[in-house]
Amino acid sequence: QNIIELQNVAKNYGNTIALQLNRLAIGEGELYLLAGPNGSGKSTLLNILGFLTRPDRGELLFSGERVDWKRGTMTRLRRQVTLLHQSPYLFRGNVYDNVAYGLSLRGMGGAKAQEVVSETLATVGLDGFQLRKHTELSGGEAQRVAMARALALRPKLLLLDEPLANVDQKSARVLEEVIAGLPSMGTTVVMSSHDPQHEKKLPCQVIQLQGGRMNADHLDETESLGN
Ligand code: ADP
Ligand code: ADP
Repeated sequence: QNIIELQNVAKNYGNTIALQLNRLAIGEGELYLLAGPNGSGKSTLLNILGFLTRPDRGELLFSGERVDWKRGTMTRLRRQVTLLHQSPYLFRGNVYDNVAYGLSLRGMGGAKAQEVVSETLATVGLDGFQLRKHTELSGGEAQRVAMARALALRPKLLLLDEPLANVDQKSARVLEEVIAGLPSMGTTVVMSSHDPQHEKKLPCQVIQLQGGRMNADHLDETESLGN
């Protein structure tokens, strides 16, 4: 069962081929590591998987449904996918406000929201941080808050763009553990990283990008990721 499939997807910026893939299938409940040097197309792929960038050509299937890029469809599909950036944006207010914000957009407030916020903050090791102002967080803590905010929405597909690039060691360890545990909770994860250590540390399948393409020596393996 694939949560998302790309067929003949390409995205160019002027003369730059940012991404060109024959076929990529992301299996439900799996963890994928998106590897490749700067400029290899990792962010472009994550933005396409998150329905934030529409490719110039090609097809996407989400849980078997052909993505038509119509407004109504995309509003529905985007609710099932969350993208977490390398440098998270936290708005004014405290940690609670930041995690509860997405829930309130979906009509969840009150005791139920408080429960979800507590749970997700505990998951990232930030029990007791609820009233901490966003300005009083380290980079790693801010990234953990952003992760809690993403998890609170219970996305089917969680996209992580270099989530560990700017965080301290303790936060990195916490986040690695959280990320590794997500597939067993039914969340599919695609995470970009230029740290080769992550391939060894995390129980993941590797998607290797180079110049917007998947490495040739990886194609056979990738075919078998499919079905
Ligand atoms: P990565 O995330 O692996 O660093 P990107 O997906 O950001 O790679 O970029 C892939 C290629 O597309 C690079 O050559 C980059 O400069 C180019 N690119 C990405 N986004 C844009 C953009 N908005 N405008 C122009 N070129 C872009
Ligand atoms: P990362 O290293 O995390 O992949 P990038 O520096 O490649 O981030 O890209 C950050 C943002 O800038 C992305 O939204 C990307 O689309 C955009 N971008 C990347 N390369 C270019 C470029 N050459 N021209 C304009 N925008 C770009």
